[in-house]
Amino acid sequence: MKIKMANLEGYEGPRYKIVVIGDGAVGKTSILESLLGRQFHSTYKLTIGANILTKEITFEDVLFKYQLWDLAGQTRFSIVRSSYYRGAHAAILCFDLNWPSSFESLPRWRNELKSHLGRSIPFILVGNKSDLPPQVSETKIAQYISSANADLPCNVPYMPTSAKTGENTSELLTTIAKLLTTYKTAGFSK
Ligand code: GDP
Ligand code: MG
Repeated sequence: MKIKMANLEGYEGPRYKIVVIGDGAVGKTSILESLLGRQFHSTYKLTIGANILTKEITFEDVLFKYQLWDLAGQTRFSIVRSSYYRGAHAAILCFDLNWPSSFESLPRWRNELKSHLGRSIPFILVGNKSDLPPQVSETKIAQYISSANADLPCNVPYMPTSAKTGENTSELLTTIAKLLTTYKTAGFSK
């Protein structure tokens, strides 16, 4: 994973910037590592700065170039946060299925996203650590999704994932392509 800590402003990259957000330790970095095909690490490493992973997929004959941004959930410097969010096209909003307080943080993360960007962008909801016994009920997840759908032009896709077993991690990229396509068709892009 490439590490960029300075000069994020002038970074010329592929077409779609995707920010990965959610509380610290929900597994954001692990999900991206799983996308890279790296082995799962069971030790917790505090991410410093932003990791930027580039990845390409073809969906319905269209090439999607992604830049996936991963920031430490603990970073409080707003200057870092502004660069982090600037120009994002979509977000992967993550919580830990095994840790209810990370689910309760979702509205706070959406507010942060919206306040930095000044508008809403499409996002995918990811419940990670599906390999562990769930502590957040499906009813609660469904309620959250229907309230989020109420103020967005497209429905929010939900995916349970496990960075440990690899469940649904690569499917995330296809789901984002689908979401961006729908969003664009609906005339809401950029
Ligand atoms: P981040 O702070 O959101 O980037 O979280 P990390 O990717 O650093 O992961 C935090 C901790 O959760 C680490 O100890 C990981 O090994 C563990 N972890 C991440 N994903 C999973 C998962 O899907 N299942 C399980 N059981 N543990 C996970
Ligand atoms: Mg991390």
